[in-house]
Formats: sequence, structure tokens, C-alpha cells
Amino acid sequence: MPPTPVTDHDSSSLRDALVAMGEKAFRAGQILRHVYRRCALSYDEMTDLPAELRERLKTALPLLSTGRPEEKKSKDGTVKLLVPCADGQPVECVMIPEPPGKVPPERRTVCVSTQAGCPVGCVFCASGLAGLARNLTAGEIVEQVTRQGRLVRDRFGGIDHPISNVVFMGMGEPFYNLERVIGAIERLNADWGMGIGLNRITVSTVGVEGGVGKLAAHPLAPNLALSLHAPNDEIRRAVVPFTKALTVSQLVSEGVKYREKTGKEVTCEYVMLADVNSRPEHARELAKRVSGRGLKVNLIPYNEVEGLAYKAPAAREVAEFARILEAAGVPCPVRRARGDRIAAACGQLRLRKMGATT
Ligand code: SAH
Ligand code: SF4
Repeated sequence: MPPTPVTDHDSSSLRDALVAMGEKAFRAGQILRHVYRRCALSYDEMTDLPAELRERLKTALPLLSTGRPEEKKSKDGTVKLLVPCADGQPVECVMIPEPPGKVPPERRTVCVSTQAGCPVGCVFCASGLAGLARNLTAGEIVEQVTRQGRLVRDRFGGIDHPISNVVFMGMGEPFYNLERVIGAIERLNADWGMGIGLNRITVSTVGVEGGVGKLAAHPLAPNLALSLHAPNDEIRRAVVPFTKALTVSQLVSEGVKYREKTGKEVTCEYVMLADVNSRPEHARELAKRVSGRGLKVNLIPYNEVEGLAYKAPAAREVAEFARILEAAGVPCPVRRARGDRIAAACGQLRLRKMGATT
């Protein structure tokens, strides 16, 4: 078996690995600072380590598990990376600077993938089109963030926290890879890691049995986004045909329990598809389900995917939908499309890449 890369260790297992090699335990702290605070890409950058140790570590303890990514930048500053895993699986992640055009940006949010592909198969989503290839390791998840962090540092100079927020909203269903997702959250949040607060980390899920409760019970519980996309079960089954997905009322009540238990923010994600779930009667039905329960609804006009027939609703339909929810006391920001010229909706770049190579 090849040696475990540094990003797949936590701080105590890294110390153990170094001691087992006959090195001093304190080297772990030095290496982790380079990896997570300076977003180092090679041992050569760690000039505070003796040169012969750096040479030895290159083969005995690889730093990263992924290779050099392909980079696509959009005019609004959004950067999409297609990161190759060691077995060739391409993995997508996006960095969204906000507000657009501000230098340096106030928020630098990275959207990460948790699986190569996705087993859920929502009808509008590029990630599910080719099914699931495999789960990503914690290292492969966290390297999406450090690689984006490195680009931010190179572009904007030594910002203290190059990445300010992380959302698990790329390819894959996080609750089918929960242990490794929690491992990645630990590396993002820890003092020995990137030091990103749990209230700046959000996990998005379509809702699979037992998942929300398990995360709520964990000390590293972050904010939660529930991919609802429908005001009733009939529409939800049409949009999220996965038989193991929770119903609308199960999802809403899991969300309410999560907020009560963890005190973290819970949002319902609602991808708006023209003629499917975006009419005024859908807004009224949704308002009845969520109003007064402390949940926010994120409205996401559909980002069109090559080969899929769905369309985004007209701007006035989106505005009317939002007006109805607001009148019922439900906060419902509309998420603007960002970086769509580089196919920023989850799974689109990977799909193109796979189409090109198979
Ligand atoms: N599998 C998890 C997390 C990743 S998907 C989940 O579904 O929650 C993250 C979000 O991206 C979901 O809310 C999903 O509905 C949205 N999304 C996927 N494809 C999209 C598209 N083409 N346009 C707009 N939003 C999309
Ligand atoms: Fe999977 Fe999420 Fe895409 Fe649905 S929206 S197919 S759960 S990645």
C-alpha cells in the first residue's frame, strides 16, 4: 500500500507517523502549518525543515494525494478547478469571491465535492448523470480547499485565511460519505488545520435516512442546507427520484430538530425549474410547509445543463415566488448565478471531461 498522504492524517496520526520514521513529533505541527495555513504544494517550500528531511519525506510521506488541476476562471472572478485524483477520477471545486470585483474579496467561498459522481440522480443535475464512481477521501476533499487557497494567496497576497467559507455543495451526496466529510470538516476547522469556524462551513444534503440526526449529534456539526426543491412529495419524487430520499415533511422536521440541537443555521435549497416547481401555487404550498419554523429558503434559478431539457423560470416568476414566501414571513434570498460561463453548476465540467475521454 502506498503511504498515507499528509492531508489524510489528523494531527495525532501525523505525529505518530513521523515518530515511527524516527523523526521528532514537533515536525508534524510545522508541516501542518505549511499545508493548511500557507497552502503549500510541495516540501520544497518548507525551508524551516532540514533539506535532508524534506528529501526523505518526499517519498516516505507524500504531501498531497491529488495532481495539478486544470483551471478555469470566469470574468466575475469565480475559479473552477478540475482536480485529478491519483486514480484519474476528475473532481470539481469552485472558489467564489464576494462581492464580485472587490480586491481582495471580503469572502472567499469554496464549494467542494464529496464523491466522484453521485448515486442520487436528481433529474436536473449534471453530477448524477453518470452515476457514482466512488467516495472521495478526507484528503481529496480538503485538498480542493487548500489548492483554491493557494491560488487566492498567489493572487491577493498573504491573506490570513485565504479561504473564509466552505460549502459542501459540489458533486456527490455528503451523507453517503459522512465519516470522511467529518474528517474534512475537522481539518478545515481545527487550529492545526485551516482554522475556519463551523458557522462558516455548510453541508448540503438531499436528505438520506439517519444522516441529519448523526451530524447533529457530532461536536463538529456545521450549518446545514437541505435540498428540498419541491413543495410536496409528488413533485419531489419527480425531481429527486431516489427512493431513499426523505419526504418533504421528514426533511423539514429533521431541519428544525437540527437547528434546535446545534444552534446552527438551516437553509432549504430550492432549485427553480420552469413549469415544474416554480408557479405561484407551489410558492403558497411551500410557504405553508416552512413558515414559522425558523428556516430560510435559498431560491436558485436553474443553471442550464447540456443535454438536459430543463429551463430556468423567467425573472418575474422568480420574483413572484419570492414575494409570496416573504409575505408568509419566510426569508428567501435568490442566489445569483456565478461563473456560469465556466459551467459552475456542480458536475458540469467533470461530465464534459468524461465525455471527452470516453
Ligand atoms: N448532493 C447534495 C450536495 C451537492 S448539490 C445536495 O444535493 O444537496 C448542491 C446544490 O446544487 C443542490 O441544492 C443542487 O440542487 C444544486 N444544483 C445542482 N445542479 C444544479 C443546476 N444545474 N442549477 C442550479 N443548481 C443546481
Ligand atoms: Fe447528487 Fe446533489 Fe446532484 Fe442530486 S443535486 S444528483 S444529490 S449532487
